[in-house]
Amino acid sequence: MNRSQPGARPSRLTVLAGPTAVGKGSVSADIRAHHPEVWISVSATTRPPRPGEQNGVHYWFVSEAEFDRMVAQDELLEWAVVHQRARYGTPRGPVDDALAAGRPALLEIDLQGARQVRAAMPGAYFCFLAPPSWEELVRRLVGRGTESEEERERRLATARLELAAEPEFDRVIVNTEIHAAAEELVALMVLDPNS
Ligand code: 5GP
Repeated sequence: MNRSQPGARPSRLTVLAGPTAVGKGSVSADIRAHHPEVWISVSATTRPPRPGEQNGVHYWFVSEAEFDRMVAQDELLEWAVVHQRARYGTPRGPVDDALAAGRPALLEIDLQGARQVRAAMPGAYFCFLAPPSWEELVRRLVGRGTESEEERERRLATARLELAAEPEFDRVIVNTEIHAAAEELVALMVLDPNS
């Protein structure tokens, strides 16, 4: 629902998706640091926190039972099992509130979630964050070093499928440098996509 003033830019939901390890989290962290005017959704997840991650800031870390309850009560705009392991979902209420308040809103989610949002909110704007090359994506995935060998293989398999989805998106941003990619995304969120 658009409750912005006549003549004002309509508030818009932007979805940022892309392959695993491309740097979606880093780009959204950069936007969080430099653009307080952009509202960024905090997802719920059943995975445990990594060192330094804070509940309510990076994710809402919830139990399987709590996630079940959120699904049953239709509290999630979208949700998915990511890397065949944990569930992740976008709480619906805060997104509606941000859009009603006229704030540009950003969801950083996986491809399965992006497809659900496209079905639920066809007016949203879909950005695909792409790596400069497949080799660079593999380097980033290995470089992070937080996953086991088995987990890394699983993520690479997911990444291959995710890269093939690029044509489904309204816009591709190549993540050569995090801050530049973040600024490109914010500029798109603030400008009329049809202009
Ligand atoms: P990580 O566990 O590394 O933080 O995130 C793993 C993946 O889950 C990333 O690709 C991220 O985009 C995705 N993800 C994070 N939050 C959500 C969400 O709310 N919904 C969906 N569908 N995917 C999410």
